[in-house]
Amino acid sequence: MTIPYVTEIDPSYGNVVEVSSSIRRVVANNPGRFTYTGTGTYIVGRGQVAIIDPGPANEEHVAAILSATSGEEISHIVVTHTHKDHSPASRLLQTATGAPTYGFGSHPVAPKEEVLRSQPTTWDTLFPTPEEIEEIKRSMPFPDDEGSEHAQDEPGDMAFSPDVEIGHGDLIRGGTWTLEAVHTPGHISNHLCYGFKEEKSLFSGDHVMGWSTSVIPSPEGAMDAYMDSLRLLLDRNDMFFYPTHGPRIPEPIAFTRALIAHRENREQQIINCLSSGPKTIPELVTAMYTETPHILHMAAGQSVYSHLIHMAKKGKVATDGEANADSTFFSQGR
Ligand SMILES: [Zn+2]
Repeated sequence: MTIPYVTEIDPSYGNVVEVSSSIRRVVANNPGRFTYTGTGTYIVGRGQVAIIDPGPANEEHVAAILSATSGEEISHIVVTHTHKDHSPASRLLQTATGAPTYGFGSHPVAPKEEVLRSQPTTWDTLFPTPEEIEEIKRSMPFPDDEGSEHAQDEPGDMAFSPDVEIGHGDLIRGGTWTLEAVHTPGHISNHLCYGFKEEKSLFSGDHVMGWSTSVIPSPEGAMDAYMDSLRLLLDRNDMFFYPTHGPRIPEPIAFTRALIAHRENREQQIINCLSSGPKTIPELVTAMYTETPHILHMAAGQSVYSHLIHMAKKGKVATDGEANADSTFFSQGR
């Protein structure tokens, strides 16, 4: 099953676009490797409105949100999670409107040892060569974000702390709309999607995006939580998903099923690879990603690493040491 990706040709930066009778969207001019064409901020309702994912601390973007809602009241500032392309503008918006902020909680801080353990500093064979790094820079469709040296870094907004902490099932009510928080850890542990009751749709944040699969970084994110959070969406009856990056997803249940199948397929590939004997992460990547250029093997290694943690918890694989080392072997579980 291939994933039916959806693309966006013209993000129309700074202009407000109606995506349904009660949802408007303004895209911030922050295209990048994690943000696609940029952060799509949603305006929910009319007259009294909620802002979902105000975006990066970009004054032009905040001015565009304020101008799109002029004559209306911004009563709620709602955040899906604490990555820097989602929550920082909440402070600028709050200064302008006085509206309270809503979210699951502050950015998760992992114990230092865990962070160190999850940094794959010794996957020497997977790192892009200096020539490949130059090639990536030349061929990248989007500008480099903050010169980040790790392809998987999606920096956290350490300053965000919601005025109102909300959890799974909590309702946020405005004049004409009701949002229901759906806790969806995986991409990050404090991720919330928001069901829009009146339209039977879901603001899916970075949990489900139409243009790409989500990054599941360790230790902030977790593959087992991610898979559970995907399955949780199958029981809902949403007509559309509205991700924070890229356009709406028209057949969200089929799309979510394809995402689940994609990850299960990767897991099966790992099991198949280990059937011929124990392998290290670099060996697994080399065997599994034969069609993928070497410059992307580092990112593939982190994905395989997230899968292995998940599979080890379920007893599907066994390991003889620290997963980040070139020399650690994984073998089939019981
Ligand atoms: Zn994110």
